[in-house]
Amino acid sequence: MPRIPTKKAKARQQAAAARAGSRGRPAKPGSKVLGSNRPMAAEIGEIARMRAEAEAAVAEARKSHERLREAIDILPQGIVFLDADGRYILWNKKYSEIYSRSSDLFQPGARLQDTIRIGVERGDYPEAIGREEEWVAERLARLYQPGERHEQLLADGRCILIEERLTEDGGIIGLRVDITELKQREASFRLLFDSNPIPMIVCALDNERILGVNDAAVAHYGYSRADFEKLTIRRVQAFESEPPWVVDRSSDEQAARTWKHVRADGTLIDLAIYSRHLVYGDQPAVLLALMDITERKRAEARLTFMAQHDGLTGLPNRNLLRQRMDEILLHARRSSDKAAVLILGLDNFKAVNDTLGHGIGDKLLRAVAKRLRSMLREEDTLARLNSDEFAVVQSGLARPEDAVLLARRLLEAIGEPYLLGGHSVVVGASIGIAMAPGDGDESEKLLKHADMALSRAKNDSRGTFSFFEAGMDARAQARRKIEADLREAIENDVLRPHYQPVIDLSAGRITGFEALVRWPHPERGMISPAEFIPVAEETGLINGLGGLMLRRACMDAALWPEDVRVAVNLSPAQFRTGNLLSIVIDALKQSGLPARRLELEITETLLLEKSGQVLATLHGLRALGVRISMDDFGTGYSSLSYLRSFPFDKIKIDQSFVRDLAANRDAQAIVRAIISLGVGLGVTITAEGVETEAELGCLRAEGCHEGQGFLFSRPRPNSEIAGLLSAQSGTDVGGNAGTVGKASLVA
Ligand code: C2E
Ligand code: MG
Ligand code: MG
Repeated sequence: MPRIPTKKAKARQQAAAARAGSRGRPAKPGSKVLGSNRPMAAEIGEIARMRAEAEAAVAEARKSHERLREAIDILPQGIVFLDADGRYILWNKKYSEIYSRSSDLFQPGARLQDTIRIGVERGDYPEAIGREEEWVAERLARLYQPGERHEQLLADGRCILIEERLTEDGGIIGLRVDITELKQREASFRLLFDSNPIPMIVCALDNERILGVNDAAVAHYGYSRADFEKLTIRRVQAFESEPPWVVDRSSDEQAARTWKHVRADGTLIDLAIYSRHLVYGDQPAVLLALMDITERKRAEARLTFMAQHDGLTGLPNRNLLRQRMDEILLHARRSSDKAAVLILGLDNFKAVNDTLGHGIGDKLLRAVAKRLRSMLREEDTLARLNSDEFAVVQSGLARPEDAVLLARRLLEAIGEPYLLGGHSVVVGASIGIAMAPGDGDESEKLLKHADMALSRAKNDSRGTFSFFEAGMDARAQARRKIEADLREAIENDVLRPHYQPVIDLSAGRITGFEALVRWPHPERGMISPAEFIPVAEETGLINGLGGLMLRRACMDAALWPEDVRVAVNLSPAQFRTGNLLSIVIDALKQSGLPARRLELEITETLLLEKSGQVLATLHGLRALGVRISMDDFGTGYSSLSYLRSFPFDKIKIDQSFVRDLAANRDAQAIVRAIISLGVGLGVTITAEGVETEAELGCLRAEGCHEGQGFLFSRPRPNSEIAGLLSAQSGTDVGGNAGTVGKASLVA
């Protein structure tokens, strides 16, 4: 440990000496001081006092030195004081610790350059190996460059930061900081930065210059490292805006926000940027980790597009339509403009699909979409709602008449033939219109109302348009209630067939019964099938209902006499399921009813679809031995081609003709024509709705084969059928049809 007094202590000693000098040299004991005539004892006292003073000063100096030593020893840095010749004066514990390999060389008065040289020879400084002289020269040159820092590597791998300063008296204060850990951290940061697969950029915090980029960034952006370092982060951003760390400080927000950058080839990329403040070199900087999310954004955009558009036509779907409508309605609320929602439903689209195949069906839908789009203004929204329904939203309307004009134009355009895959296809359309704000100011409500108006248009006569009216809503609600109740009724098996006899008019006998569904409703009593069958058809409930009726009618009829048939009505919807044939076979099998005793009634609407599947099913049924009747003949198109397309066993003349029979000559002519047509084709003709003797008389006179109507009997529950049949056999009806008509059958 150094034993050199501090400068301050030295100075004190000198001061004491000077003071002593001013009073003459210290006199030898017993001698007299020249020029002084003070007595000797006084002199001696003075000297003793001076000596005590000097000793006190020395003690004081030692104490200060000790204090200084203690102070510098607790410093975390190594510290060394050298005199103007570079000789050691004082150093602290940390200094000795740092240079533990050379600490034996530190002696007061020893020269730093000598300890350095010896250290170099002993290999204490690995950077010096091989260039010892040069290294020592550089080191010594630095010693006298005040304030300059440099790093020094020691043999044990530690790294020391060296800073040296000149003192006023030409000496040197040297500071040593062990920065080994810092260096290691820096090295691992570099490793993490350089070899990171995620592109990373370091930017200066003050001027946004790019200070460093890793290999991944160079590869990803395509700028060279040099190009990069000429740029600021703003220049890399596609749009002039604040750099990420300025805009968003919280990392959560940053993750939510995305940025667009430009690559060297000009392409734009989307990025999520994570930033972190750090010191880079000596500079405050920001590290940016750049996650390229271009692909993800593209996939997201694709998904959003798919979620909002119809895959077949590329038109907006119901979701997007609703969004657009909300915007339009918001705007309309602020202005006095009106908006119209038109829902356009294709008529008989299903028939096109069934007859020409789905390929042509799809082509047709695309062609319709294209035609509609071409008829609309840029600002009108066109969407596809479901298989054969499109919606148009017309905004900025002054009057409802504008919607009428558009509806007419659309109907006309859609009705023009389409040439698809070598086929000329004609498809009609119907339109329902709801107006905002009058018919509702919410998108969902308007769409619902336009849909109700469309149902009306379709029911009225296809190929037209209809506006929403207030009552439609209540009717629709009632309809929904029927649907719910009917679903429950089918599940609870409360529906029952009633049977109405069919009379052979010449023999006056019951040839069979028509099964007519009856629904005893808990609140409303008996509900007419005319009311709920259409609901069942629309909702698909008809399949369950039809199946039930078929099974039950077969079971009931199986217990009737051998020569009595049962007729069951079939809805076109039952033919679409594709399994009607097996349902009929099962019903026959389960009941044991011979096929020849089952008659199935269909209407012309079924044949309107002209589907191969329908005809195949009909032929299949007939092949089983089941009889097929054409019901309600005369009410539809009554096309003779239908009669030719399938060999019916029976034609039932609709009751509306029978009703007018007695008074109306035209009706008579029509009935006569149908009867003779039937006779010609060898088909049984049955008149429906016979209510009076007069009607019966006319029908007989025209040679009608069978009759059915209240005159004979209302439809009755199965429990009454046996009684009805035995009354017939008990009564002598043989050939006397008149007796059958009233006396025996009318309840
Ligand atoms: P539809 O098949 O033409 O049945 C004849 C309808 O005329 C029955 O009405 C019957 O009660 C009624 N009727 C019979 N004689 C007279 C008469 O002298 N005067 C009057 N004014 N009407 C008479 P209902 O039972 O109300 O059935 C109506 C329609 O509902 C049926 O017409 C049929 O199309 C349908 N329907 C009934 N049951 C079923 C069923 O189980 N399945 C299917 N798909 N439709 C059914
Ligand atoms: Mg019928
Ligand atoms: Mg009928």
